[in-house]
Amino acid sequence: QVRFEDVTMRFQDNTVLDKINFTLPSKQLVSFLGPSGCGKSTTLYLISGLLEASGGKIFFDDRDVTKLDPVKRQVGLVFQNYALYPHLTVLENIMFPLKMAKMPKKERRERAEEMARLTRITDQLNKYPRQLSGGQQQRVAISRALSKSPDTLLMDEPLSNLDARLRIEMREEIRRIQQETEVTTVFVTHDQEEALSIADRVMVLDKGEIQQISDPVTLYQRPNNLFVAKFIGTPI
Ligand code: ATP
Ligand code: MG
Repeated sequence: QVRFEDVTMRFQDNTVLDKINFTLPSKQLVSFLGPSGCGKSTTLYLISGLLEASGGKIFFDDRDVTKLDPVKRQVGLVFQNYALYPHLTVLENIMFPLKMAKMPKKERRERAEEMARLTRITDQLNKYPRQLSGGQQQRVAISRALSKSPDTLLMDEPLSNLDARLRIEMREEIRRIQQETEVTTVFVTHDQEEALSIADRVMVLDKGEIQQISDPVTLYQRPNNLFVAKFIGTPI
């Protein structure tokens, strides 16, 4: 369970997050939603350890990880541009984190094949990323991110490079994979429809603060304030 306690993030004199508090509910899919520049990616990087907070504390269960780097946190990351290794095959991409973790080759391969079955990419294992469609590349990125069985999967606008039809297909795939693995998942998006349709809970960010954390129905029917109502599109 990931918990933020009064976490502040400043870049020079720009306060992006101002003492935010939240707990990610375990085994659920949470969407971070908000306009461009509100600090969604920043919050994700703070969870992963790619950024260090300017103030406050971050806990994984009851362990203070505020100063721990990404490798020491049990997180998997998926980016908008997939960030696959172009010179490695699909299979090698998925196995890469396991190689770094010095897992024996046979186990590595079995684990990678298991991940490929989960994400339904088994027929592409010997291809290179450039030979795959965007949706297929994202399946590989998800397989790689889950290969080390992280406690938390962090996805930063994973669908925004896909066309509309593929975006809906992959949204459903992410939902299915999350339900099969029960991995606690954060799904960052600035698309309100996407957030409402995929998430168990939605966290709305604006102006350095959390405006609301609710399940999609509550968020839509009972927005906390005018900003949330407008952003979600509740008729008022
Ligand atoms: P988008 O939807 O466009 O991806 P976002 O919600 O992910 O936006 P962030 O990338 O978290 O927004 O950025 C939040 C704010 O922090 C922005 O004002 C941005 O300019 C600033 N910022 C982010 N990273 C840095 C950095 N490394 N140095 C300085 N300022 C930064
Ligand atoms: Mg971002």
